[in-house]
Amino acid sequence: MQNYKLFKNSKPVIAIDGTCISGKGTLAKNIAHQLNFDHLDTGLLYRYLAYLISEKKIDEKNTLELKQKFDFDEIKKVDLRTEKITKLSSIIASKKKIRDFLIDIQRNFADHPPSGIGSVIDGRDIGTVVIPLAEVKFFIDANVHVRTKRRQYDLSEKGEASEYNQVLKQIVERDNRDKNRKISPLLMHKDALLIDTSELSKIDTLKLAVKLIDRSGKLKLINR
Ligand code: C5P
Repeated sequence: MQNYKLFKNSKPVIAIDGTCISGKGTLAKNIAHQLNFDHLDTGLLYRYLAYLISEKKIDEKNTLELKQKFDFDEIKKVDLRTEKITKLSSIIASKKKIRDFLIDIQRNFADHPPSGIGSVIDGRDIGTVVIPLAEVKFFIDANVHVRTKRRQYDLSEKGEASEYNQVLKQIVERDNRDKNRKISPLLMHKDALLIDTSELSKIDTLKLAVKLIDRSGKLKLINR
């Protein structure tokens, strides 16, 4: 069984948790770029496992085979943002075996970021479970109607038509699954810094986050 509590990251980590389509991934990428840290989008790990299960027909309980077939390079090559993968990743994320398997990969990244400096890791349980001693923790959220419109915009950019109520329903379902599962539910850590991006542009969100990191005094900001 995993020892969730005792993990101490050896390199600085900025943990970013939040609801889906809240802008946490973009923020994580932008902070990482600004600080010369490495970015890990942990949602992609869940999506990739969903891909292995649905497309490569690996039994979700067979963690040994999932481990054997897990190929980091493939993550960048396959489309993990389809509706099918999005839904399945959200479902399998409630399984203990799946979460236990991915926790080691995430902690290994935190301890050995390619840059050797530090990492920004985004997901749902980074500050609460995966990296409990992360130097800075954020919780990112936005009004569900704003998130629905953002998702519709992303779909239209891909040339896909969407229906507002259908998209809204899917977002609410994913939020509910994340917030109500027994293992590692999405919740805001007491030390997390809250940012509501409903009325913020990507650049203003970054500026606010950098200001909050600075103010926290936990990281000396470089390369600003
Ligand atoms: O962030 P993204 O939407 O790409 O994540 C895909 C799914 O993986 C989410 O719906 C969520 O249920 C799950 N997930 C999770 N814990 C994480 C990251 C993602 O449960 N740390």
